Amino acid sequence: MSAPEDRYSDALAAAHRHTRQWLESQDDRRVGPSLTAAELAAEFGGPLPQDGTPAADVVDQLATKADPGLMAMPSGRFFGWVIGGALPAALAADWLVSAWDQNSALRFASPATAAIEEAAGAWLLDLLGLPRSADVGFTTGATMANFTGLAAARWRLMTDAGWDLDADGLAGGPRIRCFVGKERHDTIDLGLRHLGLGRPTVVPVDRQGRIDPAELDCALDLALTGSGHSGSGPSGRTPLLVCLQAGNLHSGAFDPFREAIAVAKSHGAWVHVDGAFGLWAAAVPELADLTAGVAGADSWGTDAHKTLNVPYDCGVTVVRDTVALRAAMGFHTDYLMHEVTGPADPFETVPELSRRARGVPVWAALKSLGRDGVADQVRRLVLHARRLAEELADLEGVEVLNDVSYTQVSLAFGDDATTRAVTARIIADGRVWMSGSRWQDRDILRISVSNWSTDDDDAALAVRAVRDALTAVRG
Ligand SMILES: *Cc1c(COP(=O)(O)O)cnc(C)c1O
Repeated sequence: MSAPEDRYSDALAAAHRHTRQWLESQDDRRVGPSLTAAELAAEFGGPLPQDGTPAADVVDQLATKADPGLMAMPSGRFFGWVIGGALPAALAADWLVSAWDQNSALRFASPATAAIEEAAGAWLLDLLGLPRSADVGFTTGATMANFTGLAAARWRLMTDAGWDLDADGLAGGPRIRCFVGKERHDTIDLGLRHLGLGRPTVVPVDRQGRIDPAELDCALDLALTGSGHSGSGPSGRTPLLVCLQAGNLHSGAFDPFREAIAVAKSHGAWVHVDGAFGLWAAAVPELADLTAGVAGADSWGTDAHKTLNVPYDCGVTVVRDTVALRAAMGFHTDYLMHEVTGPADPFETVPELSRRARGVPVWAALKSLGRDGVADQVRRLVLHARRLAEELADLEGVEVLNDVSYTQVSLAFGDDATTRAVTARIIADGRVWMSGSRWQDRDILRISVSNWSTDDDDAALAVRAVRDALTAVRG
């Protein structure tokens, strides 16, 4: 039997070599992939071979064959969706997490990863201005972070309505009425669907996509008293759930938290905030206005793999009501009811039991940046977005559709057909990558500045790429 380091060394050396090549290629490679998944199928598919392949050869083949099908998401020239790159310390920490191979469900079984994640969680609460006594869970992304917060909400609302959710399920119980802004992220609806809560009531928003607190007030009034009244629980309370948003996908706008939360609370609602990429504005002193009042909510979902730039995947759920969260996610609730004062076992705050220690790269990212470094990183994303918007607005034929208060810029080029053609041209050109989308009944080109490594040169290149594409489309 060879020594452990010999059994692993060839494969790890190959992975290290390929990783460095990949990262070095980010400066000048074409951003988009050059092959489709269907085209790559033959490389990886076919019948499962009868015989095995040495580990280092497996790594070589994987890296070589995958390369033309990889999107340069870690590149500073990638502006698609809302994605974010990988900070060096976070990427390296992620490798350690794989090597440590800790099943991070229980504090006593993997004390190091539990302690690291608890420290990361405390730093996050501090940085984002959220209640220090809240529970933090590390999920796969904001979708599951939101789901987790909403699951805690469901448990608390049903319990307070006098309904035993754990024993009797939803059927026959009071209906939880859910309220969302018209421009919430679709994954909020998905979370509500996963939880059996049905379709939410949609509340009107302003031009930037911010929920209108007066409209929310009316909708909640109607749910409690009007023809929309759907019955309270045995306790006489009507369960109400309001979902707000920090960071609109298209405009980057933030719901007016102070007003909207006051309205929701005056009706006894649970308030959940989807802050996938926007909650990070709270880490920047001069952006504090955007998130003012957000700490008054009950639960929050965010991503570490977007604005913070840890590698995929990592979301963060934060829930003030630790009893509700641990009852909703844990699976020994009777015992939990008496044990909620100490730290949770990791499995009690997320949907999974067994999982990787995905909070460790968060700790590494925060440790490597420090408080000032996080603020600087978010500040730079916003400054690049604002500068891009200003320079693009100066080009003839370009419309900037949103107030650029954060990291998102939505553009149009006259009619929808031209906008679609410009978008296709930029993607085909390959120097940068930006997403096409649809917002407020128009086709748009959306730029998201979410990568720590985007610099002045990348931003200038982005402006040139848009200008060149528009010139080419106009012939
Ligand atoms: C990205 C995003 C989500 C979903 O997050 P995932 O990390 O993809 O699960 C939810 N809400 C908003 C506003 C987002 O930007």
